[in-house]
Amino acid sequence: MTARYADEYRQAANDVLESGWFLRGEQTRAFESAYATYIGTRHCICVGNGLDALTLIYRAYKELGRLKEGDEVLVPANTYIASILAITENGLRPVLVDAQWDTLEIDDELIERCITPRTRSLLLVHLYGRNAYTNRIADICRRHHLLLVEDNAQAHGARGKDDARTGSLGDAAGHSFYPSKNLGAMGDAGAVTTDDDELAAMVRALGNYGSSERYVFDYVGRNSRIDELQAAFLQVRLQHLDADNARRRTIARRYESGLNRDIVQLPLTMADGENVYQIFPVLTKQRDALQPYLMQNGVQTLIHYPIPPHRQRCYVGVWQGVELPVTERISAEELSLPISPVMTDDEVNEVIRLVNAFH
Ligand SMILES: *Cc1c(COP(=O)(O)O)cnc(C)c1O
Repeated sequence: MTARYADEYRQAANDVLESGWFLRGEQTRAFESAYATYIGTRHCICVGNGLDALTLIYRAYKELGRLKEGDEVLVPANTYIASILAITENGLRPVLVDAQWDTLEIDDELIERCITPRTRSLLLVHLYGRNAYTNRIADICRRHHLLLVEDNAQAHGARGKDDARTGSLGDAAGHSFYPSKNLGAMGDAGAVTTDDDELAAMVRALGNYGSSERYVFDYVGRNSRIDELQAAFLQVRLQHLDADNARRRTIARRYESGLNRDIVQLPLTMADGENVYQIFPVLTKQRDALQPYLMQNGVQTLIHYPIPPHRQRCYVGVWQGVELPVTERISAEELSLPISPVMTDDEVNEVIRLVNAFH
């Protein structure tokens, strides 16, 4: 992955080494500005990782008095654990909403039934790189005065409503730049994007030990920041993001037209631009045989995710009696085929050939 832009990365690393400045400097400021422009928000605040980004958004809403302990946050049941951790870490209550089988995203027809007088926010996850924002979700958030927070860890560059980027559709968004994400660093990094000036200032203070003025601490904060090196690498990677996403899309189209649907089922195809294919999920009842078969033939696949958050030991008893049949089924049948901008056409064709030859 990194070999492609090796010269640009070397130059970026060199610039940082020669500057002798490793944290909170020009590179971070330049990346924040470039990423805010790319996403289409007034603010971008870099933080340590994607989990911190989401956690600090909710922490900031509490400090600003817009949320309080015990408030309920709607969140898709089919997501990575980090989405849920950001909620519980803040003493807020995650209310799980089941997925839609066609899209694998939150089922927007179920959301309203989960709303109670304590519901204050929806954490919308653009899972697998698919835009999950719908007009119905916008309408529900407006009518129920919900803070709409996006988990954009898997969807850098995806387009949502009116062609705006995911990460600019709600009140705030958390982004992860974990190396394997579409916009990946070479270590941990994350960011918050928002148009909200107060929220931006609060997130920045909370990630800086609770301080917005040197040696003055207004909040019980933490240290969550990004290395200048990572910010420099991310500027390189951001310049290639749209091209990388276009390549992912080309690979996905090849899968979509080539894979035999008797063997694997695919979620609904989205309009161009609405999916940046962080992951290429297929669904199959034969996963237990298909996965080792592909492995034996040199194709590594993953499962996103084998144990959904509500079945994890860390949350035992939290969602007793809640039924999430679609999420359960996804975790039993989902298989992620390889997809990345560096895959060759031959490699993609070989995956298709192997899947279609499976019996
Ligand atoms: C990767 C990911 C995160 C967490 O990001 P980190 O940078 O690893 O902390 C959060 N949510 C989703 C959906 C993710 O895929």
